[in-house]
Amino acid sequence: MLTANAYAAPSSTGDLIPTTIERRDVGPHDVLIEIKYAGICHSDIHTVRGDWGPQQYPLAPGHEIAGVVTEIGSDVTRHKIGDRVGVGCMVNSCRDCENCRKGEEQYCLNGMTGTYGAVDRDGTITRGGYSSHVVVTEDFVVRIPDGLELDVAAPLLCAGITTYSPLRHWGAGPGKKVAVVGLGGLGHMAVKLASAMGADVTVLSQSLKKQEDGLRLGADDYYATSDPATFETLAGAFDLIINTVSAPIDISSYLQLLTLDGALVNVGAPAEPLPVNVFSLILGRRSFAGSAIGGIRETQEMLDFCAEHQLGAEVEVIPAEKINDAYERVLASDVRYRFVIDASTLG
Ligand SMILES: [Zn+2]
Ligand SMILES: [Zn+2]
Repeated sequence: MLTANAYAAPSSTGDLIPTTIERRDVGPHDVLIEIKYAGICHSDIHTVRGDWGPQQYPLAPGHEIAGVVTEIGSDVTRHKIGDRVGVGCMVNSCRDCENCRKGEEQYCLNGMTGTYGAVDRDGTITRGGYSSHVVVTEDFVVRIPDGLELDVAAPLLCAGITTYSPLRHWGAGPGKKVAVVGLGGLGHMAVKLASAMGADVTVLSQSLKKQEDGLRLGADDYYATSDPATFETLAGAFDLIINTVSAPIDISSYLQLLTLDGALVNVGAPAEPLPVNVFSLILGRRSFAGSAIGGIRETQEMLDFCAEHQLGAEVEVIPAEKINDAYERVLASDVRYRFVIDASTLG
C-alpha cells in the first residue's frame, strides 16, 4: 500500500480538509501516477454534497487528472516511467459488454467504474485526483501530448471530452452551425473545440457579460437568452445545439432554434426532469439527445486534436488550501473557466 496526501470531504456538509489516503500496490497492469494538476469539476461539488445520492466519506473527489508515470507494473505496455498522462472520469469498466467492445466504455452495460466514490472491481471505494498519487489500470490512462501543458490539459479529461464527443458524433465541422448554451467550464471548451473543428459557433448565454471572452475563445456570434428577441432572430438557425447548463431551461424554445433534422444535445445534467413540447420536435424532425464523456480511444483522439490545434482549457491554478473557496466561486459562476489544483500543495 502507498499512502498519498489528499484533500477529502469528511461529510456532505463539511469543508474539504487535508488528509492521507491509501492507494493499492501497483499490480501487473497498473501504473502509478504522480499527480501534478487536478481540475475542479461542478460534479465534484454535487457528489461531495450528496446531491446525486448518498456517498461514503471521507470522499476525495477529482476526475480531471494530469501527471507523470513514476512506476509501472510488470505487464504494462502502453506507458513507461516519465510519460505525461491523464485520467478522466472512469478508471475501469467490464471490458466485455457490447459497448465496451465498441470502445464506448463510458456506456458499459455493467457500469463503468467512476474515478471517485465508486465501488472498484476489487470492492474498494475509488478516490479521485485531489491527491498526490493514484494507481490506475493502464488501459484507462491516456497520453498527454508534449504540446500541451499539464495544467491546461487537466480539464480536458472531463470538460474537454464531454463536449468533444457530441460535437464529433453530431458532425460539427465546416458548413455546420453550432450553438453552445452556457459559457462555463464545459461551454468554454465546447466553443474552442467546435471552432477548431471549423464550425460556425454561436454562444447563447443569459447575458452579454462574457461576450468578449466568448468571441476571443472562437465564437462567431454571441446572444443573450434573457432577450426574447434572440429566440425570434435565431429561429431555425442551428444544426446542433450543445446545452452545457445543469439548471432547468425551457428546452422547447431552444428546440425551435434547430433547422430540419437538427439536434439539441444535453451534456449538463439537471436533477429535475425537463418538460418538452413534442410539437417542437415533430415540426422539423428534430432530436433531443444526451451524451456522457467519451470512451478511452476518443479521449486520446481529443487530446491529440487539442495538441494539434494548440488549445487547452482557460485555467486558474490554485493551491489546495483554496479548494473550499473555489467551490463557493464555482457555485456562484465566478470562474473563468476552470479551477485547477496544484497537487504539489497538497501537503
Ligand atoms: Zn466532471
Ligand atoms: Zn462493459
